[in-house]
Amino acid sequence: MSRSHEPRIAVVPGSYDPVTNGHLDIIKRAAGLFDEVVVAVVNQSVRKSSALFSTEERVGFIQDALAEAGVDNVRVEPFFELVVTFARRVGAQAIVKGLRQISDFEYEMEMGHLNREQAPDIESVFVMASPRYAYLSSSWVKELARFDGRIEGLVPAPVAEQLAERLTRQRAAS
Ligand code: ADP
Repeated sequence: MSRSHEPRIAVVPGSYDPVTNGHLDIIKRAAGLFDEVVVAVVNQSVRKSSALFSTEERVGFIQDALAEAGVDNVRVEPFFELVVTFARRVGAQAIVKGLRQISDFEYEMEMGHLNREQAPDIESVFVMASPRYAYLSSSWVKELARFDGRIEGLVPAPVAEQLAERLTRQRAAS
């Protein structure tokens, strides 16, 4: 990996609405592989419906969880452009993505090829999800929380609290 003494930097992009323990597992493992990691939080996605949490909240949840875990070579930033543009801007050589199952692989393979076309100098690196988180997604967590399912162990405790509060408020408003 060490081509020179320049720091090896990776971007770990996602919508993180909200961050799950599966995301944090991938981020921490990336932090072990690279000198610096920048978690890139999608400000607005053209693919997904509007987020439950604001960009600031989503960034804050990740920062708090990483501080709690004592991870210090990771920073968290919102981004408003193509992932490869963001990666270039922060001087990253790699984009790290987590792979849970075949459906992730199909999507990420398309994305990886497109990113390679856009920026051949930036490598896509795929990290296999830990088995205990291989079924875990932000959307399932929201679904469970919405119907009072148990989400302990799936997201950091402060995220679980905020989810309960947000969804209770939404229910009261509807
Ligand atoms: P989601 O697919 O849950 O909406 P994001 O868009 O925030 O999540 O995903 C960002 C990245 O994190 C993607 O590469 C996705 O495959 C990965 N990821 C999401 N959940 C997990 C998990 N439980 N384990 C490993 N990787 C994950």
